[in-house]
Amino acid sequence: MEKDAEELRKDANIILIGAQGSGKSTQAEKLSLALGMCCVSSGDLLREEVDEQTSLGFKAKEYLEKGALVPDEILGAIVLERITQQDCLPGILLDGFPRTLAQARTLDRHLQRLGRSIDRAIYLEVPRAELLRRLSGRYLCRANQHIYNMYTSPPKKPGICDIDGSELYQRADDKGESVQKRLEIFFQETLPLLNYYRKQQKLVTINGYQDIDQVYMDVMHAIRDAFRTGG
Ligand code: AMP
Repeated sequence: MEKDAEELRKDANIILIGAQGSGKSTQAEKLSLALGMCCVSSGDLLREEVDEQTSLGFKAKEYLEKGALVPDEILGAIVLERITQQDCLPGILLDGFPRTLAQARTLDRHLQRLGRSIDRAIYLEVPRAELLRRLSGRYLCRANQHIYNMYTSPPKKPGICDIDGSELYQRADDKGESVQKRLEIFFQETLPLLNYYRKQQKLVTINGYQDIDQVYMDVMHAIRDAFRTGG
């Protein structure tokens, strides 16, 4: 954990907003390691339900495969329950939730009941053509979902995870029409969130079209700034 992580993460509630391929999950992984915050990814929570073949997983599967938004009655409870757990007390880093205005409002109400509120919504901005290129090159490892990109961060050995040696695979929704559909949904449904958080003076936009470490430094700076200025 970084030197002043302890101070930074106290009650920190951060949302990462970004289209698929913006590097949001890569940054979330790095930040949660550095700051010891609880990283909650709605996509990961849903994929776990599908893998464990729960009834929620069965309902969510068809939406995931199509690249469509999973309805709030299926997803809402999973995320809200997760952020209420003990390990989220010191700080939450939300990756992929909220994705609609309705979800943002539900989240605000839920946090309010917990005596918390969002400190910063960080938007990773990346041009659409670059998003498409990155998504078509994205691979994950079977064992731990470590992320690679054939164009920007390839593994040392093709098809094999550098960290745990497991096989790399491409997500079904990173292929074909699903990619276009997911981006379309992002620009239509999720972009309005920017105004929602801008009005609350919580939005920070970061150029996500830079190398991973530079984006990371910019995001860290935004989080530090939030706490220097008292949120
Ligand atoms: P992600 O891993 O964040 O790209 O999410 C993968 C898929 O999970 C999305 O394409 C949606 O089908 C579903 N999903 C994740 N987060 C949400 C959300 N906040 N609202 C609705 N569906 C979601």
